[in-house]
Amino acid sequence: MFNRMFIGRNGPDQLSLALIILALILNFVPWPYMFIITFCIVGAAVWRMFSRNIAQRQKENLSFMNVVNKIKSWYYRSKARSQQRKLYKIFKCPKCSQKLRVPRGKGKVSIKCSKCGHKMIRNT
Ligand SMILES: [Zn+2]
Repeated sequence: MFNRMFIGRNGPDQLSLALIILALILNFVPWPYMFIITFCIVGAAVWRMFSRNIAQRQKENLSFMNVVNKIKSWYYRSKARSQQRKLYKIFKCPKCSQKLRVPRGKGKVSIKCSKCGHKMIRNT
């Protein structure tokens, strides 16, 4: 029944869903004219769902998902980096400036550069 409503139309997609969630969040902003903005956002989301220009709506949704994926991958990358920083210490080779990853908490260790073979002693 629900799906039949959207025959020949774009139907709900991630971008429309995100717009509705955004409107719900903005609803909590204590500003007397906020309802105008949330009304417009929900209106845009509903309009997108019932739009017959499916190709254009899919294009919009795709570029929206591209942005979402970029934010997601940036988030996971920075999370992985901070986890690595907890386990490893990064040293830079003074000779060739190659970055060297050494596990933390091993005391004074001799490190051999993987690129040029330069040896150094560092505290981990
Ligand atoms: Zn080196």
